[in-house]
Parts: sequence; structure tokens; C-alpha cells
Amino acid sequence: MTENPFFRPSTLAYELPPFAEIRPEHYLPAFERGMTEQLAEIAAITADPQPPTVENTLVALERSGRLLHRVKVVFENHSAADTTPEVDRIDAEISPRLAAHRDAIHLDGALFARIEELHAHRAELDLDPQTLRLLERRHTAFVRAGARLGAERQARLRAINTELAAAASEFRQNVSADSQARALVLDSAEQLAGLSADEIAAAAENGRALGHPGAYVLSLKNFSNQTELASLTDRSVRERLLAASLDRAADTNGPLAIRMAALRAERARLLGHDTHAAHVVADETAGTVEAVDALLARLVPPAVANARREAERLAEVAAADGVEEIAAHDWAYYSEQVRQASYQVDAAALRPYFELERVLRDGVFFAANLAYGVTFTERPDLVGYHPDTRVFEVFDADGSALGLFLGDFHARASKRGGAWMDELVTQSALLGQRPVVYNNLNIAKPAPGEPVLLSWDEVRTLFHEFGHALHGLFSDVRYPYVAGTAVPRDFVEFPSQVNEMWMVWPEVLANYARHHETGEPLPAGLVERMEAAESFGQGFRTVEYLAAALLDWAWHTLPEGQEVADAREFEAAALAKAGLAVAAIPPRYRTTYFGHIFAGGYSAGYYAYIWSEVLDADTVEWFKGDGRGVRESGEVFRRELLARGDSREALDSFRAVVGRDPETGPLLARRGLV
Ligand SMILES: [Zn+2]
Repeated sequence: MTENPFFRPSTLAYELPPFAEIRPEHYLPAFERGMTEQLAEIAAITADPQPPTVENTLVALERSGRLLHRVKVVFENHSAADTTPEVDRIDAEISPRLAAHRDAIHLDGALFARIEELHAHRAELDLDPQTLRLLERRHTAFVRAGARLGAERQARLRAINTELAAAASEFRQNVSADSQARALVLDSAEQLAGLSADEIAAAAENGRALGHPGAYVLSLKNFSNQTELASLTDRSVRERLLAASLDRAADTNGPLAIRMAALRAERARLLGHDTHAAHVVADETAGTVEAVDALLARLVPPAVANARREAERLAEVAAADGVEEIAAHDWAYYSEQVRQASYQVDAAALRPYFELERVLRDGVFFAANLAYGVTFTERPDLVGYHPDTRVFEVFDADGSALGLFLGDFHARASKRGGAWMDELVTQSALLGQRPVVYNNLNIAKPAPGEPVLLSWDEVRTLFHEFGHALHGLFSDVRYPYVAGTAVPRDFVEFPSQVNEMWMVWPEVLANYARHHETGEPLPAGLVERMEAAESFGQGFRTVEYLAAALLDWAWHTLPEGQEVADAREFEAAALAKAGLAVAAIPPRYRTTYFGHIFAGGYSAGYYAYIWSEVLDADTVEWFKGDGRGVRESGEVFRRELLARGDSREALDSFRAVVGRDPETGPLLARRGLV
């Protein structure tokens, strides 16, 4: 047997993981050796007879766990982007053990004593700002993980963390299995009326792939409102599709969500906070539950009023079809009708102008070149984690090598829904590492030989995720713990949302939005009409989002010991209490398939998108202002914000760019809430 490829650092360019050699049977042995190795490294730190120093404790901790990190990043991506039953089994086994491993470090009394001592004397240590920041962040993480608690409470904490990790793995697998089980199977093409010929062909292909030859299968995307609802003309099919989506994992994940919320509330109390939300936001830029409450409460009434106005417009159009009341499964369909009638915007007619390759190279990469001077060269010689994965080398304006960007744009049954960025190698001067980052998207694959044509939303997602990628690529710090996207959760969506502005930046748009057959630019005025139509849809989008954010908030502001009998009843009551019980607008995610908060890292953090959008909208105005060139603004944004990671306070980086505290005005204007 050849040696496990995780056991040594990769010898490939930029330490890209050797995907061609990695097989599932390598994971568990690598995890085990990685955990053992790191515990030995920690033991060496605590056994050092010398008093703690930055070098023998803090930096030694930064250098520890390299093997574990190598296997963890590859495995997590494998599990999310191309899973198999075998990988799912490994995930279920390893998740609780990794939680226990983290606790073994955070609750190591001898290690914490050394960090505590350094922290207590930090003012006398003459530390440079980055090292001081690292010390503060590490110390905070240990305290927040329970390092100061007594043995009995720590034992309970370990048990809670292990159970939560196992529950999160189970939750994720339930969503995935039930999403597949509830895919909508239709017998005839007539039932798909309204979809394009390509979409109907894809549904037939999907039927063959999923064991329903001759039938048409619509797979469920991870959010509530399935995209086909905008075009399906058969109302009963729309109703069935949405019902399948909304009922996902209701039986299995309802009880699991209740249990997880209760465990998180108990853990928060152990750690000295009233609720899980209070514990989470204490370490975010928001700071307090009240600050988040205030923003959400300010947004809800005008958003709901907007949505009701939109509903009236929809009802006028729907009346012609004999539809008396707009139901949830009608909303997207009649919105599309209004868009076409009032704004002369036809979503399907836009697609030919958004061909993936062109959007990527002449849009996303072009914008990054315009603002930051970087260039991209595809490296087909480097193997990605899936045959669809593409590898690009990124060069700085002066020609020096910066890192690797991996793009995996297509949907497949083995990939979870949504779109996301993460890092395979984290930038760090200390470790001599340059960044290797990736984007995963879920763009449907067309028939072989057909062009990949994107929707408006998919174009935006491409720009968004690439904004995260740049945050990782431009990282320029010493310590990996505070590098790249390791910023507060309610800050991390800020750079990615800022990057969305390039999508409609005139110079960028003119460069990429061309008809894939004729090369013609977008018809004049179309973008303006599209933007007007977008602002028409803001009521729906804001309510859908806020409902999910408030649902997350309701689950995680539960005090310890408050019993929840039924997840669906709790959900309905929470939405009603928040003023968001709009029957025709379901939350973007319902509890039982809300993976962000029960299987991902966004518990009590889904508010982060709109919180970050305050900074984003404000920054877009800054980019446009004061007669600075785009390149000049880009340099400032990169140097003062993207490059910094968490090596200084997030809002200090914002102020260093914009020159003042964030203001909510631009967000309210953008969302039509003033
Ligand atoms: Zn994002």
C-alpha cells in the first residue's frame, strides 16, 4: 500500500492537495494521526519548563495540527461537494470526535494557564499589533470555549459539544436524503409547460439518472422557493413542487432542531450567557442581542409593507387567470408576469447574454483586474477535486504569484445545494503558505456541447462567491489563525457582497454581457429595466430573508429550560410574533432544512447577511465617490480590508477604508425601505 497522501505536506504547486492520490480510505487514518500529532504538540508546549513566551506557546500553537488541518479541509469539501455513502459514514463518525478534539485543546488547563499568563502581561511584552491581536483572539476563543469553568461544568460542556456535532451531521444527512426523496416526479412534458426546452430536457435526463426513465424529475434546490415556480404554468404542479420543498425533513429534523436549540441554550448558560444568541453575538461586530433586534425590528415593517404592495400588483395580473388569492406557489410566477408586463424584462431572454465562460473571464476576472490588477491563468496540469473543477493560478499586478483559485461551478446529485467559498491552504507568512481557495456553485449542467447560460441571480452568485475568494487570496498576514476570511461572521459577507457591484458596473457589464451566438451587447436599457424590476421584487426578497433570519433568532434566543413541543408550531408562532407571518411568503429556509443554522456555522448568525449589507451598501457608495479611480479605490480596499483578515478589529478596517462609522442609509435606499 502506498503511503497515505495526507501524512506529508503536498509537494504540488502552492501545496495544492494531491487530489489524484486521495481516496476515502485515507481519511480516518489521517484524522486519527492528525489528532494524535496535535495532542503531542500541545503536550510539548505544556511540558516546556520555560515560562510561557509568544514563541514557545502562541506561535507553537499556530504551528500545531498541520496534518489534521490538511485532511480536514479536503474532507469537508469532499463531504459537501461530492459526497458518497462512504463519505457520509466517515462524517458521522468523525464529526463528534473532532468536537471532542477541539475541547481537548481548549479545555487543557495547562495550555490555558500559559495563554492566560501571556494575556495578563500583554502590555509589558512589547508585542507588534498582529501578535497582540493573535494573543487576544486566542485568549478570547479559549475563554468562550469554557477554559475558565470548573471540571464538572467542563465535563458537561464536552458532552454537549459531542452530541451537537453528531446531531449536526445527522441533520445535514437528513436534509440531503429527504430532498432527494421528495424530488418531484412528473409523467408528462405538458406538466412542465412554461419551462424552456433545455430545462425540460434536463428534467428528462434527471429522470433517467434518478431511476425514473420516461419521467421528468425536478430536483429540489436547498431554499424554499424553487426557481421553476417562476415559469411553471400549471398551478397544481407549482403547488406540489413548493409543498415538496416546504415539507422537507419535517419528521426527522423537527425533533432534532428542538434538541439542538435546547443543548445550545444549556451551553450558553454554562458559559455565562442568557441565550445562545447572546453568546454568539458577544464575539461579533454586532456585540449584543439588542443591536441585532434593533436592526431587524427597523427593517420588518417597511419590508412587509413593500411585500403587500407587491402582492396587490400580483393579484391584478392573477385575476385574469381566475386566481382569486395569491398563494405562496403563485408568487414567483406572477412576479415574472409583472416583470415582463411592467418592465419589459424577460428573465429567460437574458440568459443568452450570460454565458458562463464569458461571465467568468470577461466579467468576474476582468473586474478583479480592473480594481486590483490581478490576472488569471488556467492550470489544466493541476488536478482538482472533481473532473468539473478548474484550477487557475492568480498573479499580482507586478507579475508575482499570489495563489490558486479553484472553480467548481456545476450542480450534481453528490453536491449539497447553495454556493460557497472555502480555503484548502490558508495564507500565512509564518508557515510560508500562499492561499489556495475555491468556489462551489450549483449551476445546472446543460446537455453535452450546449453552452452554459446563467440566470441573473447566478451571475450575481458568481461575483459574490468570488468576493469571498479574493478575501482569501489577498490575505497578507503572519498567523494562519487570523488570516483571510477568519473574520466575524457578521463581517464575512461584507467583502463578498461588495464584489457583487461589479456585475452591473458599466465598464464590466459591457465587457462580459454579450450574446453567446451573435456577440451583441445587451439591448439598450435592459439593465436599467432589470434593476427596476429587481427593486419591485425587494419586498418579497427582504421578507423571505428576514423570516429566515428571525426564525434563526427565535430558536437561539430561547432561554435554557424553555420547552418546545413542536418545531412547526414554534416556527409559526415565532414568525407571527416578529410580524412576519405573511402566508404567501415562506421563510427562505424553514426550520427542518435550515442547514445554515443546524448543520453549518450560522446559528444565531443568519442576520449576518443584512448586517454585512449595511457595510456593503455604504462601501459601494464610497467606491463610486470622490473622483478616485477604480484601481486606486481597489488598492485601498485591498490593503486596508481584504489583506488584513482578522489581524485587526473588523470595524477598524472598515473605518480605514471609508473614513467613518457605517451608516444604514444606503442599505435602506437599496432595499426600498425608506
Ligand atoms: Zn457569501
